[in-house]
Amino acid sequence: TKWVYTFGGGRAEGDGALKEILGAKGAGLAEMSALGLPVPPGFTISTEICRHFLATEGAFPAELERQVAAALDGIAKVAGHQFGDAEHPLLVSVRSGAAVSMPGMMDTVLNLGLNDETVEGLAQVSDDRRFAFDSYRRFIQMYGDVVLGLDHSVFEERLEDYKLERGFTLDTDLDAGDWQAVCDLFKALVAEELEAPFPQTPHEQLWGAISAVIRSWNNPRAKAYRRINSLPDGGGTAVTVQAMVFGNLGETSATGVAFTRHPSTGEKILWGEYLPNAQGEDVVSGMRTPQDLTEFARCETGSELPSMETAMPAVFAEFRAVCDALEKHHRDVLDLEFTVERGRLWMLQARPAKRTIHAALKTAVDMAHEGLITRAEAVARIEPRTLEQLLHPTIDPESGGDIFARGLPASPGAASGTVVFTSEEAEIARTQGRKVILVRVETSPEDVHGMHAARGILTTRGGMTSHAAVVARGMGKPCVSGAGTIRVDFHAGTMSAGGRTIHRGDTITIDGGTGQVLLGAVPLREPELSGAFAELMEWADTFRVLKIRTNVDTPSDARAARGFGAEGIGLCRTEHMFFDARRIVAVREMILAETRSTRAEALAKLLPMQRSDFASLFEIMSGLPVTIRLLDPPLHEFLPKGEAEIAELASVMGISPAKIRASTHALSEANPMLGHRGVRLAISFPEIVEMQARAILEAALDVADQTGTPVDLEIMVPLIASKSELDLVNSHIRAAESLVRKIHGRAPSYQLGTMIELPRAALAAGELAKSATFFSFGTNDLTQTTFGISRDDAATYLNTYLAKGILPHDPFASIDREGVGELIRIACDRGRATRPDLKLGVCGEHGGDPASIHFFAEINLDYVSCSPFRVPVARLAAAQAAL
Ligand code: ADP
Ligand code: MG
Ligand code: MG
Repeated sequence: TKWVYTFGGGRAEGDGALKEILGAKGAGLAEMSALGLPVPPGFTISTEICRHFLATEGAFPAELERQVAAALDGIAKVAGHQFGDAEHPLLVSVRSGAAVSMPGMMDTVLNLGLNDETVEGLAQVSDDRRFAFDSYRRFIQMYGDVVLGLDHSVFEERLEDYKLERGFTLDTDLDAGDWQAVCDLFKALVAEELEAPFPQTPHEQLWGAISAVIRSWNNPRAKAYRRINSLPDGGGTAVTVQAMVFGNLGETSATGVAFTRHPSTGEKILWGEYLPNAQGEDVVSGMRTPQDLTEFARCETGSELPSMETAMPAVFAEFRAVCDALEKHHRDVLDLEFTVERGRLWMLQARPAKRTIHAALKTAVDMAHEGLITRAEAVARIEPRTLEQLLHPTIDPESGGDIFARGLPASPGAASGTVVFTSEEAEIARTQGRKVILVRVETSPEDVHGMHAARGILTTRGGMTSHAAVVARGMGKPCVSGAGTIRVDFHAGTMSAGGRTIHRGDTITIDGGTGQVLLGAVPLREPELSGAFAELMEWADTFRVLKIRTNVDTPSDARAARGFGAEGIGLCRTEHMFFDARRIVAVREMILAETRSTRAEALAKLLPMQRSDFASLFEIMSGLPVTIRLLDPPLHEFLPKGEAEIAELASVMGISPAKIRASTHALSEANPMLGHRGVRLAISFPEIVEMQARAILEAALDVADQTGTPVDLEIMVPLIASKSELDLVNSHIRAAESLVRKIHGRAPSYQLGTMIELPRAALAAGELAKSATFFSFGTNDLTQTTFGISRDDAATYLNTYLAKGILPHDPFASIDREGVGELIRIACDRGRATRPDLKLGVCGEHGGDPASIHFFAEINLDYVSCSPFRVPVARLAAAQAAL
């Protein structure tokens, strides 16, 4: 079997399509090499080896060693010198890389191949002894950390001690002899800690690093990253071994990262950061403040330090040409790592850039206009869920907040919360339902869980490509990075800037679009959805077949949903209108009424209120379909709670509190979700149905008269199990219709339909369709009743089910195709067999879930209905399902 794929010297055995085998990094390097771009030669060991290694607890197939040796010879041929050669040593990096890149989560070892002998050779050929020993000590430290399991801080402490003893402050104060002495100290440290000398043979170093990089697939932060991003654990990492190039060989050398377009805004400008005389890790680690790549970016950051564009114009021009070529070739925005060694450019990584949703939309739309990609490709590129972030508020510029400090606008959106200084505090706060802003000097992969728990992230160090910035953009969280004027005192639990101090627990607001940090909770403004977003959504709508409706019951939500493109209301929960403080008393009177006439009185109070509620929804939806569901929840939800409410009701109804307590008690149920609710209420209290139907019909009549547009009205009965229930309820609606006809001389037309949320209803769909002209799948209840899992109480054991892999995903979030999905399929088939033009839709949470939407499109439903903020998500997911 072939496990090792070489690249370099203008050729490559693999290519960009082999991500699963070579990892994204290995595949990208192969692709660049085959394009003839300057890539240091190397080879990539397949992810299959990682899976083998982990399954066999650390064994490699026997054949692998020979393939690696051959590939090393191949590198030597291209590079012109040998791995382990004492005179002119070839040094390599050993790099991790999974199919889906997990930036910074796994390990990499640089400068491998150095030992007491080869370091002298490196000093000779580079003509720079200081560089050689600086590289050696970096290697010992990195190898010690990644492979030998020593904390990198023990090395740093030793270095600090050395500097202190000699009165040095900066690394640049150390000369060749100093670094050599530090190497000896580091080796002694390893020997002391591990009771074994630092490995001197390059061969042993190489296999040690390969094993460690493979093991880093299962380190806690990589695992956490996969969990947070719902990535599978089975894939494994590839290992790339590549000839080293050095960005730390003086002022004509440099290293940097670049994005072919702006990763926050998507603007078509080359954008990034670099550091002269530095090795790759220095840029991302936040140890030194990086400089801007271009003059354009320098104007943005206002940096005093020269950009690469002015400092190294010739190499920069070459780099820009490479960027253009790569972007054309990949037809996507790329994130690139490069190094300049004594004036010569080397490409070290190319991958699709992580970007904000703003940038994703702008670049997809721009690239379609540029003819690089088609409109369908542009639509396919956007992850539907990320659209929700666009609905993130920003700081209202009118609000005049009090600015505490400024940093870099690292990830857009604004957020308010109380200050915490550690990821642990952030996690705890989340479980307590508190909103927090995580404040760190800089973040590291260990902070990912805390960043996930926080509403926003603020760092005092690090640039726009720092760990905090990249991870926050990936998560769609607001982030302000590098707010350098802030001093954090972790022990005191405070941070100060400009003479003012903020304590742990104080509230601040950050705006990741402007870089501002403000005191207190500043008013936020809803975003405008125009530009690239609007254009892409228009394109999406041309592909989609499914209609998108919304679940709303208030005029303001209805208006918002129409703004997001909803094509009607798929679910109006009438009971939500009952919870209003002024109405609840009338509702309680209705429920607890002892005679028909007192019930009729209470209903008469509710009638005009419901009528005007419906009228405003009909008006806003002007002619689009509106589904109104009759009263659904268990009655006890409306009953008075506590003595004060009981007393109030007693006085309104003119009966004793004791009597109210008694009837309240009589109405209580052991299992309300399977109790006296839904259609069962309509059967017990037909007067409620008649009142609701009358309110609906009169409102429809009114609005049609006033606007000249008839209402596309659908009345829906919840929790139906049998056709006879539906027929009985329908007779009450008919009674209301006759009454309306008697009063107004006419009545509006409407359709009668049912929810399908009980397995029996799904199976009896053929019968139900004789009376219903539409079905709406209430997938929340249908999931609950199919699994027999109460969704309100499921959290405790459902999480265990998910953790143990008994369920592949939460069936309440994403439809269970095998069970619940099968019932839906059966109901559709049986219903359509009775009534070919039966209208079919979904009104559960699943109507806004992209994976579920794909299923609903597959089985040819007519529409899905979701909460207003999910409408754009659903439009895009439905378009992608149709591509
Ligand atoms: P990550 O996936 O965390 O970015 P990388 O494997 O890309 O890890 O390596 C970390 C750093 O080391 C990067 O800045 C990269 O550019 C640099 N690097 C990796 N290999 C080489 C090499 N052969 N020569 C010079 N720098 C390298
Ligand atoms: Mg990298
Ligand atoms: Mg329901």
